[in-house]
Amino acid sequence: MNLDKLVRPNICKLTPYSSARNEFTGSASIFLDANENPYNEPFNRYPDPLQREVKKRLAAIKGVKPENIFLGVGSDEGIDLAYRIFCRPGIDNVVAIAPSYGMYEVCADINDIEYRRVSLDDNFNFDPDTLLAATDENTKLLWICSPNNPTGNAYPIDMILKTAQAFNGILMVDEAYIDFSSKGSMIAYLDQCPNVIVLQTFSKAWGRAGLRLGVAYASPKIIDYYNKVKYPYNINAITQEKAIEALENVAKVKAWVDELLDNRSLLAEALEKMSCVKHIYPSDANFLLIRVDDPDCLYNFLCKQGIIVRNRNRVEKCAGCLRITIGTKDENAQLINTINDYDRK
Ligand SMILES: *Cc1c(COP(=O)(O)O)cnc(C)c1O
Repeated sequence: MNLDKLVRPNICKLTPYSSARNEFTGSASIFLDANENPYNEPFNRYPDPLQREVKKRLAAIKGVKPENIFLGVGSDEGIDLAYRIFCRPGIDNVVAIAPSYGMYEVCADINDIEYRRVSLDDNFNFDPDTLLAATDENTKLLWICSPNNPTGNAYPIDMILKTAQAFNGILMVDEAYIDFSSKGSMIAYLDQCPNVIVLQTFSKAWGRAGLRLGVAYASPKIIDYYNKVKYPYNINAITQEKAIEALENVAKVKAWVDELLDNRSLLAEALEKMSCVKHIYPSDANFLLIRVDDPDCLYNFLCKQGIIVRNRNRVEKCAGCLRITIGTKDENAQLINTINDYDRK
């Protein structure tokens, strides 16, 4: 694969903005280079444009090198920049499994890129050959979300590897829910997959949705392109500080995940007994997709009781479905009680 050929010509030859903090990175005692206010309130200084400390710690935890990491304002930045780096507006296209996460298509529309959806089968699986058959010489990105949102299932690593090897563009693997999955992460295969970008996030298992911090893992060459195109100081100082705190307490995340997986089984068991629930799809994520008798009616009933779930009734392949995030034991018990009331009504 020739990466430079996949990249848009204007991005390939782009001279990126060079910030004061990029040009001088040594240690000094007096900084008069960035027109900052010298009085520290705090936050008078620009943050590290390359988030070196966060990446160093994250790399150690994930078993990759800091050069394999891009940090963005949520996964959304990692998604949008992929379009801006690789896809020529009005010319190129992308292919994605469907249904999947809505931002892939929104970002395609914003960037004027044709979005080709390939429907999953009734068990929410896909066939790599069918996916590849939807590509052509202008297909730059292929989207696989694993575990997938909203269906909840994860795909076997060998299927994803096979797809990556057979594709001449960039395979985007969104692993926002990977911490809840029994299937492995693609970041272990980055070295053998120069055309793969893996997206993860601090928003789900890591419990930091409010910080807005997403991660893209890829070859150093791809990460260089991300760094060229991103806003110079995309990750603010508070987010960097709080991310380091989060990374100092991996055990807490592990404990949350264990508890949520336990809560997921308990919730599934309880839902199985409800007469309005027709099917519970297997989940590798921190949510359950369930098929019910009358999704709009149950959704509205739950809303009136102050319980908000996600109505997926109008999503391709998800007619009849609600998506329920796994909450605390107490929240899940209240949900179960309320659906019991609905059943008796
Ligand atoms: C929640 C979610 C994300 C996370 O997005 P952030 O911008 O990092 O909060 C990414 N991908 C999928 C599929 C998601 O469901």
